[in-house]
Amino acid sequence: MNYKAVGGDLSLDFINTANNRYNQFYQELCMDTSALVNWAKESTHFIDLKIKGSGISIEEIRLLRDTMFNILNSIHHKEDVSRKDIILFNKWLYEAHRGIDICQNDEEKVSVKHLDGQGVFIILYPIVRSFYHLLKSNQTIKQCSSTNCDWFFIDKTKNQNKQWCSMQLCGNREKARKFYKNKKIDIEGVEKW
Ligand SMILES: [Zn+2]
Repeated sequence: MNYKAVGGDLSLDFINTANNRYNQFYQELCMDTSALVNWAKESTHFIDLKIKGSGISIEEIRLLRDTMFNILNSIHHKEDVSRKDIILFNKWLYEAHRGIDICQNDEEKVSVKHLDGQGVFIILYPIVRSFYHLLKSNQTIKQCSSTNCDWFFIDKTKNQNKQWCSMQLCGNREKARKFYKNKKIDIEGVEKW
């Protein structure tokens, strides 16, 4: 899968580990739990990640990810968020906050400790917390304008006019499509995605 961390947020980068999940162009990065661990190790969101075992199946991991996608997709298209998706995500949200404590050291500084358990939960709980904070924030979350891409990203541009997840992945292709369309040349047969 042609993957790039373009979300601008841990949870969006996780959601974007699949693309076109509800059509024939479906692409999947998380083929198994070790693929998820490799993704996390290569991302900038985790430092010195040490994972022992899994503790959860890849199907459950994908269900969490696709639930988060559905929530965002419904919000984006101004549709009602499914009750089933809300219930499932709320269960994760509860679990993801159970391992958080505040503590005070000798210099009276208060810090937050995350005890995210074992296995891939060390990756998944921060993702769930990140998604929660993203939904609460007023950041501009957009979906890629390309017809062959449903990735989400935060638009951090000054003019809020970002259209594609990445110029390299989608922008150039869409510009080329428009160019050839204007010239009435059919490029459908040579497109790759
Ligand atoms: Zn895109």
